[in-house]
Amino acid sequence: MSALMPTYKRLSVAFVRGEGAYLYDQNNRAYLDALSGIAVTNLGHAHPAVTQAICEQATNLIHTSNLYRIQSQEQLAAELSAATGMESLFFCNSGAEANETAIKLARRFGHGRGITEPKIIVLESAFHGRTMGALAATADATKKADFAPMLSGFLRVPRNDLEAVRAIAANDPNVVAILAEPVQGEGGVWPLDTEYLQGLRDICTAKDWLLMFDEVQCGNGRCGSLYAFQRFGVVPDVLATAKGLGNGFPIGCCMARGRAASVLAPGDHGTTFGGSPLACATASAVINTLSGEALYERADPIRATILDAFHSELKDPDKVADVRGLGLMIGIQVTVPTERLVADALDQGTLINVTSGNTIRLLPPLIYSDDQAAQLGETIARLVNATERTHP
Ligand code: PLP
Repeated sequence: MSALMPTYKRLSVAFVRGEGAYLYDQNNRAYLDALSGIAVTNLGHAHPAVTQAICEQATNLIHTSNLYRIQSQEQLAAELSAATGMESLFFCNSGAEANETAIKLARRFGHGRGITEPKIIVLESAFHGRTMGALAATADATKKADFAPMLSGFLRVPRNDLEAVRAIAANDPNVVAILAEPVQGEGGVWPLDTEYLQGLRDICTAKDWLLMFDEVQCGNGRCGSLYAFQRFGVVPDVLATAKGLGNGFPIGCCMARGRAASVLAPGDHGTTFGGSPLACATASAVINTLSGEALYERADPIRATILDAFHSELKDPDKVADVRGLGLMIGIQVTVPTERLVADALDQGTLINVTSGNTIRLLPPLIYSDDQAAQLGETIARLVNATERTHP
């Protein structure tokens, strides 16, 4: 540990094996995973279809270069295109990179229209990643402190406030795009209102701006449809995703359609590793498993079982300020101190997360059994029951 840059405050447990909904430590103790590597292993650990795809592809060919055609990349692009309606795709390695691609695409789109100082509208409590462009688009000032100067060209508006966007539309000719997570994750598990998303769509269409959704966290089956936009019924021009796309194998993707599909030309963007044969064969197995088995349809029933068990075991409802989210992005905002909750859950063999200081975030995989879902809900309730409120 000592040779690592201390960018993470790590819990002391180290996992050596995973299977389905469980991770196992060196002593073979099982932990129920309600975090999925932060919305990554949506199919659970060591899913046979994913493991098989990795092994077969790794035996044949791991990497070539984007200087050549890559069969598995073209195949994955065709599969994602058929599943989403997006028309042209760029593969990269992470969520931040997918968003960087979207940001560059939006700027290039602006330049193509003669706007040399293009601006992108972003939201309060947004999280888009840690690279400099994605960081500038992110809201949390604590994550940006000491990394100035930030990339310019972002305008921040409150969530679900269409008037704020309309006011900018009326006054600023340099705006080219809106970037938003349909369900905000790190910022506190906030689903945006359907009317708001539709309103953004209408403004973008009227103003010839690009509507860009960051589905790095809420995509890939997590919210009850393959991508969250499909559930909201609001189609973006640009769709960025990563995390669950490879179920743990690093891959990100920036998809575009319509006017956005042909913006980036040879030389405008690139990547050494992105879209490798291995990454794409893996992601194809993930997408085919998610879609073929319509596994994302499990998101709502699992959510309901977790929350039913939670509410029936919870002794003091005043300890819960809000329960929100969509599908298997569950945010339980509590009024009790949260500092010890993650460690206490770990002691009890359950992996959870707290975000925004006061919100328990549950991101279980789509392969939970009903028993595992009920067990998780009860565990969270017992943890909250056992935590005293600081301000009675
Ligand atoms: N966008 C969203 C919505 C995210 O939740 C995250 C990561 O948590 C990112 C972007 C950044 O992804 P990555 O860590 O793969 O760069």
